[in-house]
Order: sequence, then C-alpha cells, then structure tokens
Amino acid sequence: MNNIVAIVGRPNVGKSTFFNRLIQRREAIVDSVSGVTRDRIYGKSEWNGKEFSVIDTGGYIKGSDDIFEAEIRKQVELAIEEADAIIFVVDVEEGITPMDAEVAKLLRKVTKPVLLAVNKVDSASREKDAFEFYNLGLGEYFTLSGMNGSGTGDLLDKLVEVLPELPETPDEEEVLPRFCVVGRPNAGKSSFINALIGEDRYIVTDIAGTTRDAIDTRFTKFGFDFNLVDTAGIRRKAKVKEDLEFYSVMRSVRAIEHSDVCILMVDATRGFESQDQNIFWLAQKNRKGVVILVNKWDLIEKETMTMREYELRIREQLEPFTDVPILFISALTKQRLLKALEAAVTVYENRKQRIATSKFNEYMLDLIERFPPPALKGKYIKIKYCMQLPTPVPQFVFFANLPQYVKDPYKRFLENKIRENWNFSGVPIDIYIRDK
Ligand code: GDP
Ligand code: GDP
Repeated sequence: MNNIVAIVGRPNVGKSTFFNRLIQRREAIVDSVSGVTRDRIYGKSEWNGKEFSVIDTGGYIKGSDDIFEAEIRKQVELAIEEADAIIFVVDVEEGITPMDAEVAKLLRKVTKPVLLAVNKVDSASREKDAFEFYNLGLGEYFTLSGMNGSGTGDLLDKLVEVLPELPETPDEEEVLPRFCVVGRPNAGKSSFINALIGEDRYIVTDIAGTTRDAIDTRFTKFGFDFNLVDTAGIRRKAKVKEDLEFYSVMRSVRAIEHSDVCILMVDATRGFESQDQNIFWLAQKNRKGVVILVNKWDLIEKETMTMREYELRIREQLEPFTDVPILFISALTKQRLLKALEAAVTVYENRKQRIATSKFNEYMLDLIERFPPPALKGKYIKIKYCMQLPTPVPQFVFFANLPQYVKDPYKRFLENKIRENWNFSGVPIDIYIRDK
C-alpha cells in the first residue's frame, strides 16, 4: 500500500503540469500496452526509492475559470480527509488570490503534512516574487517550475521525508482474500454490504483522530472467508453523496490499492459511464482483479435479451480489457448476491493462478509456430521460450531474438490466446517480450 499525496489549488496554477511531471517516468512503462488515453488524475510516483500515489484534484475541472469557490473548497476538504500529505500549488505570476487565502485557511488547521509549492518560478529573478506567500501562514514554501522541472527535487526530498511510515503489508500469500466494493455514490455499495453482513455487524463510530487506514471486515458466512476492505469507510462516507468524478476516484484509491479484487458497483438505472470507467481503470492500473455488478436490476423493465444487450454495451466500454465477469444483482431484493461473491472468489483464484512452465510452453510455442509474429524489415522473429513470471499478479514473458519488433497487436493476440486457454477472467495480464 502507498501513501496518497493530493495536489490541491485553484485552476490554472499548474497542478496538472506538475502532476504529469511526477508520474511521467512510470506512466510510460505501465500504460504502453493499453494505448488508451484518458483524463488522468491518478498515478504513481517514486522519489529516493519511496513510492507514493498522487492525485491531481484539478483534473476534472479543467479550463473553467469561473469554477465555484465552494467546489474547490469541497475538493480541498476531501483531500484533507483522504490523503496522507497535501501539496498546495500557487502561482507566482498571480500572487495570492482570495481563493488561495481560503484554501490556506483550511490547510492551516490540518495536522497532516502540507507543502506549499510556489509554481511558475521559471527563472531566478522570480524567486523574490515568491516572498509574499509567507503571508499564507503555512511556513516555508518551495519554489518550482512545473514547466522546466527546476525546484521539484527539493520539494520531493521534503515530501518523502514527511510522509508517514505505513504499516508493513503482510505477505500476500498469508492473508485472506481482500475484496473492496467501489463505485460512484448511490450505486448501492452500502446496501450491498449491509445485505451481506447485516446492519448491526458494523456500526461505525466516527472517532476524531482515528487513522485513515483501511478498515477490514471479515466475512465468514455461507462458506466464504474473506476480508471486505474499508467497509467502515464506505459506511461513513455514505453521508457524502457528491457525484463528481473526482469524489469517487478519491474515495476509491485507498481501498483499491489495499485489495486483491475490486467489486465495481454500477447503477443499472444510469448505465456504465465515464466515472465507472475511471474506477475500472484505477483497478486495472493497480493490477487488481475486477468483478462488475450491475445493481438495482429490480428497477429495470426486462424484455428478452435485455441483460445480454446491457452486458454487451458495458463490454464495449471496457475495451481492450473485456474479459471481466459482469453480474446483474439487486442489493434490495438480495438477488444473486452470493453469485457475486462467488465471482469475486473465482477472480481472486484466477489472479493467483500459476501455470507450469512446461504446459505453458507446450501450448504457446505450438501456437506461435502456427501464427508467428509478422516479419519486420525482412527479419523473422523467433520466440523459443516463454513462461509466467513468479510475480504476485499474472505476468508472462516471451523470449525473442528481436523483441523490439514484436508490436502491440501481436502481444494482444498472445494475451487473448492465454485467456482462451486458461481462466484469467477479471484479471489484468502483462505480456513482456524480452531478449533471449
Ligand atoms: P491546473 O489547472 O492547475 O492543472 O494548471 P495547468 O497545469 O493546466 O497549467 C495552467 C497553465 O499554466 C498552462 O498554460 C501551463 O502551461 C502553465 N504552467 C504550468 N506550469 C508552469 C510553470 O512552471 N511556468 C509557467 N510559466 N507556466 C506554467
Ligand atoms: P452507496 O452510496 O453506493 O453506498 O449507495 P446506497 O447503498 O446508499 O444506495 C443508494 C440508494 O439506492 C438508496 O436509496 C438505496 O436504497 C438504493 N438501492 C441500493 N441498492 C438497490 C437495489 O438493488 N434496488 C433498488 N431499487 N434500490 C437500491
């Protein structure tokens, strides 16, 4: 599990420029396969060997200068609640605006680390203009230029120094499966959890100063034994019904990072939209298993094929990772709830699956011989050996004479064949081509 760092500030101060700079290096590696571009407000970064997750709270309100002050306020409050550290970005060109002063007021009360970043200090001559930001009452500040990168090193040195130590995560092998329930507000997450464990089992008291760590609830009924991650959090958060994309992402990050399988709850009456897509992407990016539950199915008028059509429409949205279980449930009438849990358990097992190297080679090499990678620049590509890596999530490596010539379509072909022959439903797969 990572520390979560939130970048806050009013629009146009340079939050996303800075954010992109932070996640750049890793992003390039992780997303080369999918080829999907999407609004990105979440990524992982690493400094001095310490990894952390970064959320850009401005990602969804881009371009709107007349954004309501109340909106920014809510974003900052949520960041304070959810993040382990906050980077507050201001703009040296603009100086202190009333909104900056508002945000600073909120942040002065926070006990979590807050770093003040004075951005757009592109040259030494602007250093002196930054002095006025002492007036925000947040103590020392860091000057930087998100554009050319100067100053970011000092800021990050400080950041990783002040990030709290996280408890050791136990070995993945030793612990029970961890499932989290995620989705946009009102999808039915707490109804689902209540239907499973009963209201009484988890009355949450909001004790001031309790840690923000995920709280697990062990589920041991009907032959199941697993942990539901952060159920208390969902319950407590149920009070907040904001339906902004940013909120569901911010609310989900910790639970997703902490789980093996994410149960993504979709509201059948609303369909699978960009918010759902983004949460799905979060799970995928973290290489977690996913089960999609279309909830409130009791409210949908059924005709022949409705379910099938609905499912197909969702799968279109999941491209290219479509091999995911989709179930239609009702938390209200308790329809198919245990089926949903069974699906989550199956995905958990799929994710832990290890294919014997001999079996894998036997199947894949025969296939590759029949359907070899297309020759490139007159050169033949030969794959002589392949295996599943001993990693906690499914990763496969194929050794080739000219690895750089094996392109994404062929990797997708390999992935599809793996999925056809073994059950990796609900589980992201990585394919690597390496020099033999
Ligand atoms: P956000 O709304 O806070 O996410 O701001 P953006 O990252 O979209 O940046 C707003 C504008 O400021 C863009 O035109 C950026 O090119 C510009 N910008 C961002 N960082 C810097 C910087 O360090 N120096 C200068 N001069 N411009 C910057
Ligand atoms: P959460 O914000 O995702 O935790 O959503 P809630 O569990 O609070 O549910 C939001 C609303 O949807 C509540 O009014 C629920 O009673 C209602 N709801 C939840 N599940 C179902 C369902 O399966 N069918 C119907 N008809 N309503 C549901």
